[in-house]
Amino acid sequence: MANLNQGADPAALPILPCLDYGRNVVAYVARCGQSAGERFYKCRNHNPSGGGCNFYKWQQAYADHLASPCPAAPPLAQIEPG
Ligand SMILES: [Zn+2]
Repeated sequence: MANLNQGADPAALPILPCLDYGRNVVAYVARCGQSAGERFYKCRNHNPSGGGCNFYKWQQAYADHLASPCPAAPPLAQIEPG
């Protein structure tokens, strides 16, 4: 946990569009609790209990997601012409 503050500025992580929703995820900072001050990233359509998206990642998980060897497909690639 302590090593989250080492290295690059955590705010420098790029914002990517959510694959489910096609719009950029939003970065938040936790304001209370044990994780206060830590960033997390959430889809604008986050609502897993209501049929929405379940994209919700803490800083480290989001960094891992960005570093994934499988690149995210651009949203346009999911649209088939015709
Ligand atoms: Zn989403």
